[in-house]
Amino acid sequence: MNHEQEMRAEGIRRMLADIERETQLTAPFTGIAALDPRVMQAMAEVPREAFVPAELHSHAWDNGPLPIGQGQTISQPFIVALMTHLLEPEAEDRMLEVGTGSGYQSAVLSRLVDQVFSVERVPELTAEAVRIFRDLGYDNIETRIGNGFEGWEEHAPYDGIVVTAAASHVPPALVEQLAPGAHLVIPVGPPYGRQELLQITRDAEGHIDTRSVLPVAFVPMIDEE
Ligand code: SAH
Repeated sequence: MNHEQEMRAEGIRRMLADIERETQLTAPFTGIAALDPRVMQAMAEVPREAFVPAELHSHAWDNGPLPIGQGQTISQPFIVALMTHLLEPEAEDRMLEVGTGSGYQSAVLSRLVDQVFSVERVPELTAEAVRIFRDLGYDNIETRIGNGFEGWEEHAPYDGIVVTAAASHVPPALVEQLAPGAHLVIPVGPPYGRQELLQITRDAEGHIDTRSVLPVAFVPMIDEE
């Protein structure tokens, strides 16, 4: 290994250890003692540095959010891992993300499920994410520019939906687009205020169960209605 590869391998080890530590620290809230090993494997596999601006490459494996332009951020690795775990991904699944941003969350999911659909309102972010997916050969992610508050009706129902911006309330269209047994993982609360990460489950009869998982801080969802 050359120096750069060694630094990268060390960065990945540190990030995975940080995720495990934060999982344990938050276990009293989440009730989750350890994340799914397949999720941890996907976190190790997806090159996070490809999704952050060049000048921040040395921070790509830090367990924190980073700016990605357009006033947006790539989420903290622990939160990405936790949300992915809460979706309970299976190999045959088709999942929806609202808030493509850098594309990192979709990329992690794409290693675990058959097909990922991802909606983003800022065209420049989508264009950059699509370029990165192509460079990495991740060919099971489809993107759309639009208001994710509406979901993506065309491909519904989904085996899981993850929203990576904070909504003021749970978007009804997203609940409607859940397959039986599927989870909607979404931060809900006021912009820059007290937000809760929710795991919402729809059962075969269409009944909805809502579980509050953890207090979180996400950038706000825009153009909700
Ligand atoms: N998942 C991203 C982080 C997203 S930050 C990643 O892994 O990098 C939240 C994103 O949600 C931003 O890119 C923002 O533009 C987008 N967003 C905000 N409101 C939205 C809406 N109504 N519909 C779709 N995307 C939205």
